[in-house]
Amino acid sequence: MTFSGRVVLVTGASRGIGRAVALGLARAGAHVVALARDVGDLEALDDEIQNAGGAATLVPLDLTDFAGLARLGASLKQRWGRLDALFGNAGILGPLTPLTHLQPRDWDEIMAVNLSANWHLLRVLDPLLRQSDAGRVLMVSSAAAHYNRPYWGAYAISKAALEALTFTYAAECNGTNVKANALNPGPTRTRMRAQAMPGEDPMTLPAPEELVPPILELLSAACTKNGELVHFRK
Ligand code: NDP
Repeated sequence: MTFSGRVVLVTGASRGIGRAVALGLARAGAHVVALARDVGDLEALDDEIQNAGGAATLVPLDLTDFAGLARLGASLKQRWGRLDALFGNAGILGPLTPLTHLQPRDWDEIMAVNLSANWHLLRVLDPLLRQSDAGRVLMVSSAAAHYNRPYWGAYAISKAALEALTFTYAAECNGTNVKANALNPGPTRTRMRAQAMPGEDPMTLPAPEELVPPILELLSAACTKNGELVHFRK
């Protein structure tokens, strides 16, 4: 599969699933627009991409900076006039605590990063995705969205709403070149998983790199799915 000449925005590209996918896309020929807050981690990714013969543009930005997301859209428009794919991967877990114990600032941050930022991205990037011959959106959800498990409330609610956002957008894209899907990657060996399950041996979990081929398929022009929730592992 080739992403040669295609421009793909990856949020949460500094580590975990997003970093592995950014590297995989670059190796497949994409120009990766890599967004996260940690500049050092982004620069390390850039080095690795360049060593692999690929190209990236680094976007050190906090997703809760919605004005920054609008500026990013304007920059992408000016430079390429289109966007071929958006991998809406960045997310935070927040405190695992009863809903009624959650601090308002934590609720607001979880909703801002996991949900609102993705709406802002769709809003500013939709015209650019429509300029692509095959604009693709893949938002990263979680099985938690469907479990209503105690103490995971804010995270679960943000992911359930993210799925509603994705599938509504997908329905609105019917008849266009744009397709949007959501992904439940399943338990994966990352910092977030270690935060959620501190007693678990991380080596029992698949590494993010194992997810890269099926994720690239969902981001590729060849993907025919629209408005689907794809589960890799439950
Ligand atoms: P990590 O914690 O390893 O990575 C999260 C990424 O999101 C980092 O690159 C981080 O970058 C970025 N990020 C977080 N907050 C912000 C912010 N405010 N602005 C910009 N970037 C931000 O998590 P995973 O790789 O595990 O998670 C990726 C996605 O997969 C998430 O949406 C998660 O909910 C989902 N998921 C993960 C599972 C797992 O088992 N790992 C299972 C199910 C779903 P930085 O800190 O540099 O900003």
